[in-house]
Amino acid sequence: MAEVQLSALKKRFGSVEVIPSLDLSIPDRSFTVLVGPSGCGKSTLLRMIAGLEDATAGAIRIGGEDVTDIDPAKRGLAMVFQSYALYPHMTVAQNIGFALKLAGRPRREINERVREAASVLQLEPLLDRKPKALSGGQRQRVAIGRAIVREPKVFLFDEPLSNLDAALRGQMRVELAELHDRLKATMIYVTHDQVEAMTMADQIVVMKDGEIQQVGAPLKLYNDPSNLFVAAFIGSPK
Ligand code: ADP
Ligand code: MG
Repeated sequence: MAEVQLSALKKRFGSVEVIPSLDLSIPDRSFTVLVGPSGCGKSTLLRMIAGLEDATAGAIRIGGEDVTDIDPAKRGLAMVFQSYALYPHMTVAQNIGFALKLAGRPRREINERVREAASVLQLEPLLDRKPKALSGGQRQRVAIGRAIVREPKVFLFDEPLSNLDAALRGQMRVELAELHDRLKATMIYVTHDQVEAMTMADQIVVMKDGEIQQVGAPLKLYNDPSNLFVAAFIGSPK
C-alpha cells in the first residue's frame, strides 16, 4: 500500500494555479525523488504534504489516513530544508533534542534518542559544539538529526544538499542512502539535480509547470522517457 497518496491535489496562489491537479502514489519505504526545473512547484507540493501550505483542493493520505486538514505536527512526518536553520545558541545535542523537549519528553529519553541519532549520523564527537563551529556537511547532519529523533514514518527533504560543495554532496548522498536503508522510512526528496535523482531514487517523479510528466525507476526514465522534456531533463540519449 502507498505510504503517501495524493489525489487530485491542487494549489492556487491568488489567481495563479501552481499545481492544477496532481495524482501520485509514493510507496511505503521508497526513496522517491521529485525533480523538475526551478519554479515547477516541487517545494509547494512538499509543503502541502507537510501541512505547511493548505491544499486548494484534493486529498493527501498518509498511511491510509486522510491528513488533508490535519495539523502538521500530527502527520507523522519530518521535513529537512535547504537552509538548515539551526539554533545558534544551542549545542548540537540541544538542537537535535529540541523537538522532544518541546513535546515534554523526559530528559533521560531525550538524551537516549539524541545519542542514537548522533550515532547514526556520526555526530557523537560534536554533541557539545555550537553550530558556528561546524562545517556545512556537519550542520546538515544536525538538521537531519533533528528530523530523525522524531522517528517519523515519512521524511521530506527539500534540496537539502544544494548549499554544499560537490565533494560533500557526493558523500552526503551516500550517507542519506544508508540512512534510508537503516531507518526503513519513506523518503520524499526534492532536487533539481539530475545526478542526485538518478543515483538516489527508487522512484523518480519528473515535474513541469505543476504537472507530472512521468513516474518510474531511474533506468526506466532514462531508457524510455515518455516525452522530450523528460528525455532532456534526465539526460537520456534519445
Ligand atoms: P520549486 O520548488 O519547484 O522551485 P515552488 O514550489 O517554490 O517551485 O514554486 C512554484 C511556483 O509557485 C512559483 O511560480 C512560485 O513563484 C509560486 N509560489 C510559491 N510560493 C508562493 C507563495 N507563497 N505565494 C505566491 N506564489 C508562490
Ligand atoms: Mg523549491
